Amino acid sequence: MGTKETHQFKTEVQQLLHLIINSLYSNREIFVRELISNASDAIDKARFKEQTDPDLFADDNDYHIRISLDSENKTFQISDNGIGMTLDEVNDNIGTIAQSGTAAFMKALENSKKENTLSPELIGQFGVGFYSAFIVADTVTLDTKAPGQDMGVRWESDGKGSYTVQEIEKENRGTTITLHLKATEDGDQDFTESYTIQHIVKKHSDFVTYPVIMEVEKSEPLPENEIIKDSDGKPIGDTFKKVKKDETLNSMKAIWSKSKEDVTDEEHEEFYRHISHNWDKPMEIIHKKFEGVTEYDVLMYLPSKAPMDMFRPERKNGMQLYCKRVFIMDDCKELLPEYLGFVQGVVDAPDLNLNVSREILQEDRLVRNIRKNLVKQIFSVLEGMEKEKYEEFYVEFGQALKAGIPTDFQNKEKLASLLRYKTTKSDGKYITLDEYIENMQEDQKEIYYLTGESLTSLMNSPLLESLKAKDYEVLLMVDPIDEWVTQSLPDYKEKKLKSAEKGDLDLDKVDDEKKNEYSALMSFLKGKLEAKVKDVVVSNRLKDSVSCLSGDDYGMSAYMEKIMKASGQ
Ligand code: ADP
Ligand code: MG
Repeated sequence: MGTKETHQFKTEVQQLLHLIINSLYSNREIFVRELISNASDAIDKARFKEQTDPDLFADDNDYHIRISLDSENKTFQISDNGIGMTLDEVNDNIGTIAQSGTAAFMKALENSKKENTLSPELIGQFGVGFYSAFIVADTVTLDTKAPGQDMGVRWESDGKGSYTVQEIEKENRGTTITLHLKATEDGDQDFTESYTIQHIVKKHSDFVTYPVIMEVEKSEPLPENEIIKDSDGKPIGDTFKKVKKDETLNSMKAIWSKSKEDVTDEEHEEFYRHISHNWDKPMEIIHKKFEGVTEYDVLMYLPSKAPMDMFRPERKNGMQLYCKRVFIMDDCKELLPEYLGFVQGVVDAPDLNLNVSREILQEDRLVRNIRKNLVKQIFSVLEGMEKEKYEEFYVEFGQALKAGIPTDFQNKEKLASLLRYKTTKSDGKYITLDEYIENMQEDQKEIYYLTGESLTSLMNSPLLESLKAKDYEVLLMVDPIDEWVTQSLPDYKEKKLKSAEKGDLDLDKVDDEKKNEYSALMSFLKGKLEAKVKDVVVSNRLKDSVSCLSGDDYGMSAYMEKIMKASGQ
């Protein structure tokens, strides 16, 4: 064995552990699901790598997860023959908060500290699944070996402040995690009891696509010749014997290939959590079998909560690709455009070539066809949602849809019809662009909008004075991404979108006489402000205020300039 190194957990990990242990105590059994889910992810990764490097996995590619219980030593053990981890990976993945931006996490932690609980939703978002082991364990030992490595790694911790790592001899590739269980009190679940574990696996992890195997003690009838009988031929003593046998605890039934009516809400919720690593409930479920030239199963979920890191470029696309129930890849960017990456789901396409590489996938006609259908399905669900529910969705994912407007040319009009804005006249309520058009004044030709930081500042903007006077409605856009929306959406249903801030609003042309009257003043002001403004003009735009700053027709809005500056451009 190599030398043992001790590392301190990062502060946030310590705080997190404390919170997990305290807030999830009433739901302790979820550690089983978390560890199975990690094992399943690790096997997915191994299978993916095996496609490009089969030799590396040839010795051991009968993929499975094994649970072993020891009631005497009070241990729960789970092993997989997945991708394993190198020493560096152990330090990166297990010593810190996995995946998520620490800053975002700390912020959420601050908020949740007030109540001294970390909600399960949050725990899911930050991918702290592994640490759930400490809800039930005093000490956790993780042995792991990555493919092609000579040595394995042991990570061990009591979850208090530090952990140790050292190199070890390990025969097989993959990971074995041993939980040294805390003492239980009367009435607590006993996680060394096979019945308890069978039940938990069935409940939370039934659809996991690899067998979860456990040795289970069973009674079997004794073979005829082993049964002792009296002179009448009646058996004396036992006719059954206890045997230990491997049993697969999960049905592995791919829920997407079941027919729609046969899947319960609970099954959907569990499956959604399994694939998304989220803890919210799906807002909408799209479960469909496409039939035609090619057939494929689709199961997609629209989440009800947006992830904190929705716009981080390294965020994964939520779609997984399967072929005849065999996992091909997750993060399948070819199945949905990037802006719909928040949708979580599975496509199982039996006709796909199993040896697909990502490059081939992009070119694949079947895949392109599937993608088109998925997008269509999502739009039809969004369009069919009832008003309140859609608005709830929009508050979470409106930004994602907006991101589609500059990028998805084909669906621009559809996306635009899904936009919702509050306006100068809507009384804090959302309206659609279609509603805006319906409400337009008779002499009004264009759709007016104003962008800025907050509704209040927009409502009080002097830029609105003349529009207000004419009783024109103005869309109030307070999302930074609205700047990109308006730039790539010059018109909607043949009505131009026009910034209330830019250029000459054409409301009432200023007559030449007025212009001449003020020309001396204008040139004086222009001279004074030369370095700061492009032009100074007479305008009818203002009613109560004396002057205002405005952009020219093709320039950036003031808010856009602010965003660009803030992002260092
Ligand atoms: P998440 O699964 O959301 O990434 P976890 O806390 O459950 O977060 O796991 C953290 C990380 O530890 C995983 O992303 C993975 O890199 C690594 N890991 C955990 N369990 C295993 C395992 N059985 N095999 C390989 N890597 C694992
Ligand atoms: Mg996990």
